[in-house]
Amino acid sequence: MGIVDEDIARVRAASDIVAVVTQHTQLRKVGQRWSGLCPFHNEKSPSFSVNAQEGLYYCFGCQASGDIITFVREIEHLDFVGAVEWLAGKAGIALTYTDDNEREQRKQQSKLFGAMERAVDWYHDRLVSGSDAGAARAYLRSRGFDRDMVEAYRLGWAPDSWDDMVRSLRLPVDVATETGLAFLNRRQRLQDFFRSVVLFPIFDDRGRPVAFGGRKLPDTEGPKYKNSREGPLYNKSRTLYGLNWAKADVVASGEAVVCEGYTDVIGCFRAGIPRAVATCGTSLTEDHIISLKRFTNRVVLAYDADDAGQAAAARVYAWEQRHGLEFAVASMPAGSDPDELSRDDPDALAAALRDARPFLAFRLGRVRDAATLSTPEGRAKATEAALRVIAEHPSPLVRDQYLMEVAGFARVDEAMLRHRLDEVVAAGASSPAPTRGRGRDRDRGARRGGDADEPPPWIGRSEVADVDAEMLGGSGGALAGAARRGTGRGGADIEPAELEALRLLIQHPAGFAEELRPVLFGDLVARRAFDALGATEGVPAAIERLETAGDETATRAAVLLRRVVVEDATAEPIDLRLRLVELAARRAIGGLEREARLDDNPLGWAPVIGWLNLQVDDLRGDNPPMEIVDELLAWLDEHVGEVE
Ligand code: ZN
Repeated sequence: MGIVDEDIARVRAASDIVAVVTQHTQLRKVGQRWSGLCPFHNEKSPSFSVNAQEGLYYCFGCQASGDIITFVREIEHLDFVGAVEWLAGKAGIALTYTDDNEREQRKQQSKLFGAMERAVDWYHDRLVSGSDAGAARAYLRSRGFDRDMVEAYRLGWAPDSWDDMVRSLRLPVDVATETGLAFLNRRQRLQDFFRSVVLFPIFDDRGRPVAFGGRKLPDTEGPKYKNSREGPLYNKSRTLYGLNWAKADVVASGEAVVCEGYTDVIGCFRAGIPRAVATCGTSLTEDHIISLKRFTNRVVLAYDADDAGQAAAARVYAWEQRHGLEFAVASMPAGSDPDELSRDDPDALAAALRDARPFLAFRLGRVRDAATLSTPEGRAKATEAALRVIAEHPSPLVRDQYLMEVAGFARVDEAMLRHRLDEVVAAGASSPAPTRGRGRDRDRGARRGGDADEPPPWIGRSEVADVDAEMLGGSGGALAGAARRGTGRGGADIEPAELEALRLLIQHPAGFAEELRPVLFGDLVARRAFDALGATEGVPAAIERLETAGDETATRAAVLLRRVVVEDATAEPIDLRLRLVELAARRAIGGLEREARLDDNPLGWAPVIGWLNLQVDDLRGDNPPMEIVDELLAWLDEHVGEVE
């Protein structure tokens, strides 16, 4: 399927799971394994473990588990082939594909990327040296873009012509149209999609060009913004402008700054804040959030204060809960955006971002700023407005903290306020959240950017309707995620000594294995895991063997191995073996006693039961002779079929 097996093996061998995982979470060496905070679920204490030798990871919190390819798939949202390609890219390995379709598809995709690269260069050259680009250059200079910035962001100029670009690059029809660089006009001739606009190339987070954002020059005809249509390379509800440049600082600083426009992103970079991204003419979506969540837990909105105030609070809180994120709002001076501020007062931009407030605090601040607190009526009105804002937050503890703040500035008794808040919360729960100010938002959207028919930032297509279900832990939550991975909590009811034996087997595969027998595993799942380890080389191969077998015990054994592979064994092999033999002997005694009760002649069983009991007693003494252990194990190995 997709890539030839030898190449997949080469990619695995060349990839270091610890190095890849540490791009997303810090790992600490603990005994034989590495441990850290899980990058797949939100947690305060580390439950994520990696066994570097076997190349496997497991999370004790959310049961995420797998090898390096699974990790890359889950964290980068890629399919299997995509994950192998991602790793191959890092390791500099060229891949061979098995399947013709696949090969064609990848070939076509790299053709499209190639065409986009060439178009980026072509438009860029045109801006830098075209005799018709003087006005564009002057406009960019007036907006604070120097030559270095134009280079760094690969800005371009689409000339005022029908088909200069497609003709110069000789793009085939399918490539020209699938990239959105051109379209077939009524006479079935290719025509450039962009005309007379300054272009901001948009890259995916791997730095490959996927689209352009176009902006017309002031005082010229036509819509102010024109962006690439979606296609095979470009999905705007997933793409964040600037993420390719910003991600390193997002990880290093622990936060991502989300802006409304391309120039805002560049403004942040100019002001020495290289962790800004922007949505591309659309509202922030959950896919954007998932994309950011790979790099950080904190999102700072650097929006115009009015736009941030319009944010759909219910979605923000749902995302905070579901993805363990924290949303804050930068304290932008009224009517300013990061682009302007970076030119006029870069320090003020840095301060606005530094002083970002939690989303609810920001909203409450706006209520307070708008209120007339000098009259009793004004205070009462502000109180009601504040309670409506607070009531939207899903956490009673958080609500109560803010409630005390309101009690302070509105001079209302806390107990009374609490009672009133409960009423507002109850009323809110029974009716859908209002969708305020849609008409005004539409104007805003047209003003702020994006296609004219796009909703403005924040007011998403599905908006509030889907949030309640999501907040109640519906589809897509952590639980569903764990279920999707198909890994329940493995081995919860298995005898600890048997689990320890599996751990020890994985750590010292040589000497210990020969000392053990299947009969020492009373739990069928543990025994199956033991068998698989004995039949294969290495834990990943054992897991694969079990998963291929496909029956329920095998599947559970695979889950069990995924877990124990990242756990350290602490027992001494010799003690552990003794303990396993003792337990197996006790199980045998129990089995024999049941047989005896059903037999017409129960006394006939007495000698063997007596002998076993004697042996077990000997085992329990200090320094039991090894011969007894060996003898007992040999007996158990021979008779196990009879007693179980
Ligand atoms: Zn986890």
